[in-house]
Amino acid sequence: MISREELRELAEFECRRPNEFAVTFYFQPGTPKDKSHREEAILAKDLVRKTLQEFEVGNRSREAIGDVERILRLAEGLRGNQNHAKAVFACSGRNLWREFDLPPDSFTSLLFVNRRFHLKPLAPLFSEHPRMWIALVDQQKARFIEVYFDQVREQGAGTNPMPRHGRSDGFAGYDGGHTQRHSEDEVRRHFHSTAEILRSGAERKQFEALVVGCHDVNWPDLEHQLHPDVSKKIVGRFSADLGTLSNDKAAADANGILKQSLAEHQRVLLRETVDQARSNGRGVTGLRRVLRATEMGEVDTILMSRDYAARAVECTNCRHLDSHIVPYCSVCGRATRKLEDVCEALVPAAVRNNLGLVLLPREETLDQIGNIAALLRFRADRNKNQLLAVS
Ligand SMILES: [Zn+2]
Repeated sequence: MISREELRELAEFECRRPNEFAVTFYFQPGTPKDKSHREEAILAKDLVRKTLQEFEVGNRSREAIGDVERILRLAEGLRGNQNHAKAVFACSGRNLWREFDLPPDSFTSLLFVNRRFHLKPLAPLFSEHPRMWIALVDQQKARFIEVYFDQVREQGAGTNPMPRHGRSDGFAGYDGGHTQRHSEDEVRRHFHSTAEILRSGAERKQFEALVVGCHDVNWPDLEHQLHPDVSKKIVGRFSADLGTLSNDKAAADANGILKQSLAEHQRVLLRETVDQARSNGRGVTGLRRVLRATEMGEVDTILMSRDYAARAVECTNCRHLDSHIVPYCSVCGRATRKLEDVCEALVPAAVRNNLGLVLLPREETLDQIGNIAALLRFRADRNKNQLLAVS
């Protein structure tokens, strides 16, 4: 698995010499149910071979050919039914070779040879896979499971010692009522200590998302005891019998809930961005305005369709990005370089500057706004106008 630091290191990489190349390879296995998974491994190999041929015909860098050949050997060893997706980043000119296992996801197998690494499938990885806890709670027990990418680890478990005498019927209903009250207190205490464990977990930033597994009948009492910092991390809840629920099944259920919650969150984010853009608030749409807002440091999150690509130019001196294909930089006047896809430069910049990046499936609203938008932290326009008015 890749760490945030490793992703950032890749985002900072850029070739310095004209015959130096950054090679990126993504391999996506088919799902085990998918009969064509063998073919996917073959397709990946073909993809690498084709690129290799193009490179040799073009008589380009020997170093890049070496990297692609090495990736071909790796692709030949890959099987379509393996559990992980794979990403390789190579630049032998700079003695760099990085290989990562990734969770199987929605990108397809790809091979890129460019000045920078192709990071679009990776950049949203951490927001799509937050560190998640699952709290499994019933009236007597609580179990906490941490899910981070494909790691499932039990963090701890506790049992509320049910009083033995609670099971006796007592005499003439008197003891029965007494022990029932007693056990209600016990349950309340048990929920309270469960809520305390979660509060301390949230305080120590041990989880970014929380899914609760408990029966509907217990939920109101448990929910009542949760600290607001815990409540706001809850992405969903499911009903389950703790005794028979394995950690892996709980993780699978929680991952399903997380995925739905993320999709809903992304829809809300897009709607908010578009609304904000319409009212000239904290939102912009279209490439030109997104690039401008990014350079002004206004952007919080960039949203784009998964397959978004657009031509642009980049200044060879100041790195200014322009959606107009102009030969000279509009900021510093130096020569520009054409980018087949603005994402080559925009995505690494987003990673370096800790901006959110959300990739969305194609749909109507996105199409109407040019398939790219950004939610802003602030909007500098008005301040700038004020400055202009003063000077
Ligand atoms: Zn420039």
